[in-house]
Amino acid sequence: MKYAVFGDIHANLEAFQAVLEDAENAGCTEHVCVGDIVGYAADPNECLRIVRELECPVVKGNHDEEAILDTSLEGLNPLARQAMEWTRFRLEPEEKEYLGNLKLVRQVKDFTIVHATLDTPGGWTYVTNKFDAMASFSYQFTQLCFYGHTHTPRIYVKGDSVEPSDDLSVRLEMGRKYFINVGSAGQPRDGDWRASYAIYDVENQEVTVRRIEYDIQKAQDKIVEAGLPEMLAHRLSLGK
Ligand code: ZN
Repeated sequence: MKYAVFGDIHANLEAFQAVLEDAENAGCTEHVCVGDIVGYAADPNECLRIVRELECPVVKGNHDEEAILDTSLEGLNPLARQAMEWTRFRLEPEEKEYLGNLKLVRQVKDFTIVHATLDTPGGWTYVTNKFDAMASFSYQFTQLCFYGHTHTPRIYVKGDSVEPSDDLSVRLEMGRKYFINVGSAGQPRDGDWRASYAIYDVENQEVTVRRIEYDIQKAQDKIVEAGLPEMLAHRLSLGK
């Protein structure tokens, strides 16, 4: 059995479709979403519809949470704020209810999923180094946990100490724990514009991050046509 684990879709339909197609071709039959389905790009409703039709385990991201509130957006940077105002206006009450009911942490079979970090899942802090990862590992009770939020794929391994792996493919070993960022499907920020997600191959006990090309031009055109900030289209090509 193979799981496709994706997140930070951020309403980028073209990227999301490319990920699902690649996952299907690679033999994935199960899907898991680590949150941030909406925010930034032009297709929040369509991306939500697909995730709901997959009937897969999903955890809530900070943008999913922000999208259902009507609180002030002053704390956000201007780009995120404009995108969030746009997104809030477009989501149907039923879609907001779905997002509102998502949990912050879930266990799926023998692994865990969370959007940001296990130590403060609703605090939306970022795991960007091994010390952040160590804090999360102290709340990780399964061997394997997938997360997102930083939009940068990374594998942290906990043996005697916690270290990031040089590689984005890992074979799970007994006695070790793994905290794996699957990267962002819809808005990567590691300098590579291609959509990112991970495949968990249960039989072979292997996790591999994959990068997938998609119709970025179409996604960018839609952002501009929707009246969203042009920078949100531009940054997709930069992978930032
Ligand atoms: Zn995100």
